[in-house]
Amino acid sequence: MSPPLAGGVSWPSLRLDLNESPYPPLPSVAAALQHEIPESHRYPDFLPDRTRGQIACHLGVVPERVTVGPGATGVALAVLQYAVRRAVDAGVGTPALLTSTPTFDGYPILARVVGMRFGAVDLDDDGSVDLDRLFGAITPDTAVVVLCSPHNPTGAVVNGGDLNRFLAAVPPHVMTIVDEAYVEFSETASDLHRLIRNPGVVVLRTFSKAYGLAALRVGYGIGTTEQITEVRGHEVPFAVGRAAMAAVPVALDAELELAQRVRSMRGERDRLTDMLAQMGVRVVPSHANFVFLPGAEGVAVGRMLRGIGVAVKECGAAGTRITVGDRSGTDRVISALRLTSRSA
Ligand code: PMP
Repeated sequence: MSPPLAGGVSWPSLRLDLNESPYPPLPSVAAALQHEIPESHRYPDFLPDRTRGQIACHLGVVPERVTVGPGATGVALAVLQYAVRRAVDAGVGTPALLTSTPTFDGYPILARVVGMRFGAVDLDDDGSVDLDRLFGAITPDTAVVVLCSPHNPTGAVVNGGDLNRFLAAVPPHVMTIVDEAYVEFSETASDLHRLIRNPGVVVLRTFSKAYGLAALRVGYGIGTTEQITEVRGHEVPFAVGRAAMAAVPVALDAELELAQRVRSMRGERDRLTDMLAQMGVRVVPSHANFVFLPGAEGVAVGRMLRGIGVAVKECGAAGTRITVGDRSGTDRVISALRLTSRSA
């Protein structure tokens, strides 16, 4: 139960802190999941090779260039495990993961799990990944650089030309994870086929965000056959469940419905951005399904929203991230801010 708002109004809590889709699974995906429930006493495939083949076919690459795991998080773990082994074999004592912060909370945890040192540089003032700063922080101990585009929590994208120049310059002892968990929301197309020409790159994608299947835990990585063969050595048996395996081909087939949902989520994001801007709140232009309110003002707005039952993500002192929900979610955020600013 949320605390009452000014004027005695009280609303149920609203979850806008995990960048989830506001939509339930598409009807075709829900039907496939229903069909799978009676089979729950049976194991899934030992390794997700069928799913790998389906994703590869959808992307127009050979299956040898795809690895599948329990969410992009699971795939990132496999990449980091491989990167550690590669660095240790090359004589590095404590391999390091280098990225830009604030970022997805999973990365410092995964670094710890695999025994990597977590190193980070700041984002640009406009919330973008600062490629020069990142490049300048690479050392002989850097085993992997993680670069998110769109970036979580700001929604900024890395320009394709700049990214290709960065990747061409990265020394060969460094692997690069290009985390595209939110790529479907971006108007700036990512050139996957160009990206995976770089020998040290693994691109991460997921069914958790635009496809709205966060609970199923399925994501994938794409890279060169050589890198992916190594990463697949860290795929965990039975880690991708039956429900996820049943949903993937159906979700991939539902391109038109996905496009429609993405269009409406982008529209809602732009409406939320405009309304916040009209209220004088600073918002970073976002290419994802969330918006970022930077600085102390953003932190204060976030605290206000949490105080009235709207869960949003506080990113330290850097600001607050608000996931874009459906139309009623946006209306609630805006009405709550209007009411609280009136009663302040
Ligand atoms: N990468 C980024 C940048 C994310 O923000 C998230 C989830 N918030 C993930 C990866 C993890 O996604 P998944 O649910 O596929 O593990």
